[in-house]
Amino acid sequence: MNIKKQLQGMASYKPGMTPAQVQRDLGLEKIVKLSSNENPYGPSPKAVQAALESMQGAAIYPDGYGLNLKLALAERYQLSKEHFILGNGTDEIIMILCRALLDATSNTVAPTPSFSQYLHNAQIEGCEMREVELIDGAHDLNGMLKQIDEQTKIVWLCNPNNPTGVYMNTEDFHAFMQQVPSHVLVVSDEAYVEYVTADDFPDTIQALEQYKNLIILRTFSKAYGLAGMRIGYGIGAPDFIQGVDPARGPFNTSVPAQAAAVAAIADVDYLERTRTENAVVRKTFVEFCKEQGLDVYPSETNFVLVDFKRPAAEIYDALLQKGYIVRSGAALGYPEAVRITVGTKEDMNGLQSAIQELRQEQLSGEAQ
Ligand SMILES: *Cc1c(COP(=O)(O)O)cnc(C)c1O
Repeated sequence: MNIKKQLQGMASYKPGMTPAQVQRDLGLEKIVKLSSNENPYGPSPKAVQAALESMQGAAIYPDGYGLNLKLALAERYQLSKEHFILGNGTDEIIMILCRALLDATSNTVAPTPSFSQYLHNAQIEGCEMREVELIDGAHDLNGMLKQIDEQTKIVWLCNPNNPTGVYMNTEDFHAFMQQVPSHVLVVSDEAYVEYVTADDFPDTIQALEQYKNLIILRTFSKAYGLAGMRIGYGIGAPDFIQGVDPARGPFNTSVPAQAAAVAAIADVDYLERTRTENAVVRKTFVEFCKEQGLDVYPSETNFVLVDFKRPAAEIYDALLQKGYIVRSGAALGYPEAVRITVGTKEDMNGLQSAIQELRQEQLSGEAQ
């Protein structure tokens, strides 16, 4: 079969282990999954209720346009419904954008290490990939600007960045946008925006008026606790959204996903509790890491990249044995770090004890 040349040798996305797998393999009773930045408090009960009720209509195709959800988003952001595109997760919007803008004659500029799906999808379109190394976990914006030329179609920003958790502030964002040529689409992937506590995070929604070449990506998978429903959205200039929309599948977001998302937006208190709790637990965990002499990247998200200065696989395995699934940095560009999702207070207390044990074991190992 004549599969595209660029797909040969490409690997499928490799998710981390599921708790069921770990339970089976290790026979552990309690498994805590801290590997995919999911919401440890689960979805809003109102979102669950709305999804269940929507199932009565499951025999009928969903509203492909997603009118109810777009109206709820428009109200939430004080924009028009034409500013929005819905996706089967933000992942799908990344795919749609690549499909709509990239080909073998173009190039795309992305930070690295960052979210893998930008380059994964760009590669499938046969596009040239220009990767620019982070500096201390942050985007090298000047380095990225230097890579832009006439053939550049998309520049990716991940703010805050996954896997480092580091954010770009308002000043840097605007300085960057003002230097990007207007023919280049800038994607600001803000999957973790609801978790940000810094007060100089850019108001990109407001910036849409100023920069017609900006699209913002947000998701219900993280702070809204709906990762399993697969629903995310893009916010951009209505002309642009209309232009790329034919690249979207006709019924790409499901009946229960749309219903859950509408209810989740309405449950403002639930989101607020998640945000507050995450900020408290994140702070405690970061302080713990520092007390342990472990370097962490300053995180504005619901995960922390912890530098153990040991092979990541070793840390990953040791924590797995103790019932904690974390994400090895080996696959994320940080061979001596692990990325740990901020769980509940109780789970993080347990994890902290596990890390302390691990540190003792390491120290006594070194002493021998
Ligand atoms: C989790 C994540 C996404 C994908 O979210 P979905 O909406 O579940 O597809 C996108 N970007 C970043 C940086 C993420 O971490």
